[in-house]
Amino acid sequence: MSRGPQYARPRSLDAAMDLLGSLGAGACVVAGGQELMPVMNYGVFAPTVLVDVNALRELKGIRVDAGALSIGALCVHREIEHHEQVKAHAPLLACALSLIGGGWQVRNRGTIGGNIASAHPLYDVLPPLLALDASVEIRSGAQVRTALLRTVLGDSKHGLGTTALLTRVQIPSPPKPVGWAYEKLKNTQGAYASANCAATVDLHQDGRIARSRIVVGAVQALPLDASEALARLQGEPVTAALLREVERLCADAVTNPLNDQRGDAEYRRAMAGVVARRAFEAAAARARSLTLQFA
Ligand SMILES: Cc1cc2nc3c(=O)[nH]c(=O)nc-3n(C[C@H](O)[C@H](O)[C@H](O)COP(=O)(O)OP(=O)(O)OC[C@H]3O[C@@H](n4cnc5c(N)ncnc54)[C@H](O)[C@@H]3O)c2cc1C
Repeated sequence: MSRGPQYARPRSLDAAMDLLGSLGAGACVVAGGQELMPVMNYGVFAPTVLVDVNALRELKGIRVDAGALSIGALCVHREIEHHEQVKAHAPLLACALSLIGGGWQVRNRGTIGGNIASAHPLYDVLPPLLALDASVEIRSGAQVRTALLRTVLGDSKHGLGTTALLTRVQIPSPPKPVGWAYEKLKNTQGAYASANCAATVDLHQDGRIARSRIVVGAVQALPLDASEALARLQGEPVTAALLREVERLCADAVTNPLNDQRGDAEYRRAMAGVVARRAFEAAAARARSLTLQFA
């Protein structure tokens, strides 16, 4: 009978890095365990040593640093969702976290760092963070680096969870408030998304689009940033025809759709467009009320 992995709980970040450095490939970081424990129970993954990072204070707390929101990797979804500074600086993230399924255990134990590191296609954390141009702070050996989340996601050698630790997430403050919305399409209450979308929209005083960001999740392996595809809509007013164009552009941008029990490839591509249209419309409506408020 297998004895299972060994367990270590380093008390300092330096000790954790020394341990991860000496253990190599068999080590696995555990934070909330909400993803890791199920995959270990199913026998899909069998690390030799679990390195529990929950005692590391550098990975805790939420604060505003030089105008940017800084969230410790160990902060759990519920803590972030209800934090006043998150609600003020990044309401889009707070909204997305409020829609995470799995019940109270997941929301009270699952961490933002674990969610990012696992980069699961159906999760809700990456789309809002990408739409908000978030960066992540990564500790690797004695080195600390900060990189845009989108760059890290594109790097298959980031080593997160084995040789490297995600320590904090940083979200820059926008120069002025923008409209935002998060849409999650799911088959049943509390389920994973069949498609989700985080959008921000900034409008000129006359209601024309100044800038928009739109990131669709749960339709392909990594979130789809469709902001560039939508760039040509800048300067246009938000009309029903424009919203149909948002839907078409976002559906067309899906190149390699998922095909699973939540929907086949054709459905996922179509739903990418639907959630994008809904999120864009809701974000534009919020932007319009901000424009009126600050006129
Ligand atoms: C039933 C259920 C339903 C769920 N539904 C949703 C949902 O609807 N939406 C959603 O977004 N999420 C959902 N989740 C996932 C949940 O939100 C957690 O965020 C996720 O499980 C990972 O966080 P964790 O802290 O539990 O990570 P863990 O399970 O501890 O770790 C996950 C992975 O991340 C690595 N890791 C953890 N922390 C770090 C770190 N600081 N640095 C580097 N690597 C690290 C680990 O090595 C491991 O590979 C669900 C989970 C369950 C069990």
